Amino acid sequence: MITQLAVNDIIRKQCEFFKTGKCKDITFRIEQLKTLKKAIIEHQSVIINALKADLNKPEFEAYATELWVVKEIDYAIKHIKSWTLPKKAPIGIEQFPGFGRIYAEPLGVILIIGTWNYPFQLIIAPLVGAIAAGNCAILKPSEIASHTSSVVADIIQKYFNPAYIAVLEGSAETSQQLLAEKFDHIFFTGSIEIGKIVMEAAAKQLIPVTLELGGKSPCIVDTDINIEYTARRITWGKFINAGQTCVAPDYLLVNKNIKQNLVDSIEKCIYNFYGEQPNTSPDYARIINQKHFYRLVKFLQNGVIIIGGDINPDDCYIAPTLIDHVSLADPVMQNEIFGPILPIVEYNDLSEAIAIINERPKPLALYLFSQNKNLQKRVLQETTSGGVCINDCVIQLGVLSLPFGGVGDSGIGSYHGKASFDIFSHYKSVLHKSLWLDSKLRYAPYEGKLQLLKRIIGL
Ligand code: NAD
Repeated sequence: MITQLAVNDIIRKQCEFFKTGKCKDITFRIEQLKTLKKAIIEHQSVIINALKADLNKPEFEAYATELWVVKEIDYAIKHIKSWTLPKKAPIGIEQFPGFGRIYAEPLGVILIIGTWNYPFQLIIAPLVGAIAAGNCAILKPSEIASHTSSVVADIIQKYFNPAYIAVLEGSAETSQQLLAEKFDHIFFTGSIEIGKIVMEAAAKQLIPVTLELGGKSPCIVDTDINIEYTARRITWGKFINAGQTCVAPDYLLVNKNIKQNLVDSIEKCIYNFYGEQPNTSPDYARIINQKHFYRLVKFLQNGVIIIGGDINPDDCYIAPTLIDHVSLADPVMQNEIFGPILPIVEYNDLSEAIAIINERPKPLALYLFSQNKNLQKRVLQETTSGGVCINDCVIQLGVLSLPFGGVGDSGIGSYHGKASFDIFSHYKSVLHKSLWLDSKLRYAPYEGKLQLLKRIIGL
């Protein structure tokens, strides 16, 4: 285990490097982003092998959901000049002569703690924002995806000065050692439970936090849909990475009149995607470890399994599974599933579905499959969630102009694209005044000035 002294030393070096002002330079930031992209391009196969070893992640999924992060880098390189330009702020006539500007400035040294389900992307995407905004960063990947953690450490060490970007590998203890130190911002991805620990530690030192957490993301399915496309998109969104996706549809809220059709179509899709025996499919991932495997297996005791249900503990395999007749009080409906198990709850009227959602903590994502515009409007107005995707799922994460994050229990703050630059920047307001004119209105003696002041205020 790394000593507290060593942790302290890395942070001190990063603070010193930050003070040199080097990482504020826009050309430097662009160069570093290009270096990061180069590092990823040159290590594609190593990253893919690590993801395979950790999660049996299919190569296609690795490109689509992890190496996809190079899109973030390109986007940041393309926009960094406009993001860093001081923004004009209109000021009142009473400030004449003068003008207002808002300057984006870096925060300093950032701590990024990642989790294991998208172990590469979830540590690199926030790093892109930290670099673009001109910060130094320490990364703590998840020890649970140990192969990817060590690849991230190797790559970063090879291409970056540790006084600028460093990786500290390790378990919860390493996290806690880091949390005992002073940072300028902490970016955490993981569970609600650990999110609370992170926020508590940060509060002690008044460190701002971004918490990318989880929860149960509902998926409402109305009757006004294209059943084939709907089933295909839900099957993909639920079973990609074997359901270990923070924004996977956690449970279905299905209109009773379409339920059987939907179940039949999802069954066909599972067959088309993964064949008769998904355990032999090269395109189906595995549960990260035995602990999570047995956590998920317990959910199989709820309701009635209508599709799948096969398991293999030796291989951490759980087949794509649909469970019907669950009660809202069952553990599978009380906890985030985070695995390839999809419970179905039917409703007669949309109000019932909305009530179920609103009785629970605010979700990270909410999905609605319906072509009915009024119904879409109702769901948007009557529910709250980190984000919403209508007539698709999970794919919204790839849209860099849409900030991604939770609300309430599902998280604090959002990132991706410009939002990543924003969370790692301080927007400094500056009023520039001139010394060539000095109205005496604000100065004492005030006699005879009140009427003019009232007119300026509008009273
Ligand atoms: P976790 O919360 O247990 O671990 C995440 C990180 O926290 C790891 O790096 C780990 O080392 C560290 N950690 C663990 N215990 C700690 C402690 N006591 N003190 C300090 N640090 C500690 O991860 P998990 O529960 O396995 O992750 C799954 C959760 O993450 C799910 O809820 C999922 O929805 C959520 N998630 C959210 C997003 C998002 O972008 N919102 C993405 C992926 C996963």
